[in-house]
Amino acid sequence: MTLRDLNQLREKLDTINVQLLEILSERARISQEIGEEKEKQGVPEFDPIREKYMLDVLVANNKGPFDDKTIRHLFKQIFQASLNLQQEEHKKHLLVSRNTQKENTIINLGNISVGGGKPVMIAGPCSVESYGQVRQVAAALKAAGITVMRGGAYKPRTSPYDFQGLGKEGLKILKEVGTEFGLKTISEIVDPSHIEMACNYIDVIQIGARNMQNFELLKAAGDVRTPVLLKRGLAGTIEEFLHAAEYIVSRGNTQVMLIERGIRTYEKATRNTLDISAVPILKQESHLPVLVDVTHSTGRKDIMAPCAKAALAAGADGVMVEVHPEPSTALSDAAQQLNFEEFKRFYTEVKQSGLLNE
Ligand code: PEP
Ligand code: MN
Repeated sequence: MTLRDLNQLREKLDTINVQLLEILSERARISQEIGEEKEKQGVPEFDPIREKYMLDVLVANNKGPFDDKTIRHLFKQIFQASLNLQQEEHKKHLLVSRNTQKENTIINLGNISVGGGKPVMIAGPCSVESYGQVRQVAAALKAAGITVMRGGAYKPRTSPYDFQGLGKEGLKILKEVGTEFGLKTISEIVDPSHIEMACNYIDVIQIGARNMQNFELLKAAGDVRTPVLLKRGLAGTIEEFLHAAEYIVSRGNTQVMLIERGIRTYEKATRNTLDISAVPILKQESHLPVLVDVTHSTGRKDIMAPCAKAALAAGADGVMVEVHPEPSTALSDAAQQLNFEEFKRFYTEVKQSGLLNE
């Protein structure tokens, strides 16, 4: 073969490449149209039966030189690329997406608003342990100028032998003390059948990290109109987190706040790894308020203030921290809760940064 022949063959390949590109692009456009239609009809994008049929037809028509396995592999790549396109498109249309709603969602809790530009500080004990304990915390928080108090009544504990929370009794304590001190209350609910009942006692329903993908719980929280604080799962990706929020919003409850609480990584210096980058990403991708839990993410009192400042600097709409009258005796998370003195120091340091706009 002469050099001229080789060049001619190469030119042919160049032309075929461009033709292939045109055909692939045309295929992608048709696939996008199908995706739009599927979305309208509420049909899932991936259809394995249809994919198998298309691959079988291709193999039946294969006259070589590629073997059947190679043809299946090549076309699977093409199908996957089209599916990715459909899914990208679908992501843009989520109700929680910034593409769907440009303005920030603002959650009103009495005269406090979350997501409106003035970050909120949420504090309170890990667990509601007694009326007296919650009352003591409420008094200290009120004196410090805090307006939203947290406290767990249903505790999702790693060991079944650990304190499981006071249940409904705990919610009643939160209501009584919250009313007395004029504080809004947040508490985790773990059972879908408790959601409606809980709305009578608390101002915000928390869905914990372990339940981020408890879809029945998410649906139940979507069916009420009480605001929801949704925690990121221990191994939840940002995409999964947003889809979990979509479960709630798609049922009509638009009052959802997202909270980054650290994810599991190999790092042992902190209890979890605080994913600060999740804050600006979530703010970009969604219109929902984004908060950061500095207690469960770090598990370390000595770095809570800098982490809170980092969260606010990254654009967080609020910070959550655990406070207990006597942390060493706490029935859960004894090592990481701040006592009143420590909380005062923490709060002063965060306020002094100017990032709380107070
Ligand atoms: C909590 O906030 O009480 C809690 C259990 O946190 P997480 O779900 O983030 O572990
Ligand atoms: Mn805790």
